Amino acid sequence: MSINAGRSLCAALALAVLAGAPEASAYCRSTTCTQNGPCLEGDQPIGDCKPLRWPGDCIGFAVQEDASDEVTYKQISDALDTAFRTWTEAPCGAGTPGIRVQNLGPASCDKVEMNVRDKKTRIVDGLVPGNVNVITFRDMGWLALGGRHEADQLALTTVHFDPKTGDIWGADMEINTDLYDYSTEETVPAPKNDLHSVVTHEVGHFLGLDHTPVSPEATMFATYDWNDPMAFRTLHADDIAGICQIYPPRDLSTSACNPLPRYGFAPDCAADQRVRCSAAPLAGGGPGWGGRTGWGAPLAAVAALGAAAARRARRRGGSGR
Ligand SMILES: [Zn+2]
Repeated sequence: MSINAGRSLCAALALAVLAGAPEASAYCRSTTCTQNGPCLEGDQPIGDCKPLRWPGDCIGFAVQEDASDEVTYKQISDALDTAFRTWTEAPCGAGTPGIRVQNLGPASCDKVEMNVRDKKTRIVDGLVPGNVNVITFRDMGWLALGGRHEADQLALTTVHFDPKTGDIWGADMEINTDLYDYSTEETVPAPKNDLHSVVTHEVGHFLGLDHTPVSPEATMFATYDWNDPMAFRTLHADDIAGICQIYPPRDLSTSACNPLPRYGFAPDCAADQRVRCSAAPLAGGGPGWGGRTGWGAPLAAVAALGAAAARRARRRGGSGR
């Protein structure tokens, strides 16, 4: 691809974001309005636009087991652990954000999908297949994936949510190793991109934040700055204000952490999930939980609502400063 084309496109998009939110003074939350919605900072909806958040206090994610030719499973798994910790340990004054995250280990599924009781998901023996909030690489065919996959994206996070409430049901992250090179080193050699920075930005989307118009130094700024490739590893005050607003500090010490995705954790994609007579019951939550099951039993009441998807593009740009 043409680097220049990517740069100019990103500059235009960044300007559009700035021009479209002249009154915004802080972070923006992702909302149920996928396009041209207002920048919401608080919990109050504007019109039909409601801010997104994970409804529980514990989230699980898994890493696609094949990883990438550029990045090993351990490297991406470690990078994600660090990135989630960066957000969940943000200083919120009275404590840290009231949300916990667990790495559920490897998953074979590499698809962006959300299995719910809608009219699209294949029901297996009356059960909705389990889910996995997967982080996966795309070593080939980024543009062939279609949809919102564009050449100037370093990564793409898809958040599945209840369009009526804004409750996040699941999220999947795709990293574009097809068109870009990544580094996992402490100091990033040009012209590679810093994996830690990119996944820290994407985790912000995973948790419910949109791009901020406030500062190019913020992790949630829309364009990656090649001149300061590691800047997104650490949170800016604007990022911290955002995550603390979505998940105010609360005492989580007395509740068990249940990281299972909606309808249970299933490392296989829905099409590969099979009912097995001897399937073990799902393990309970708790630190260190990393069991694998072939399919998941419903965890909650049947969901009658369909899932919508909001894709947030992590765009590659030239200097944003
Ligand atoms: Zn982004």
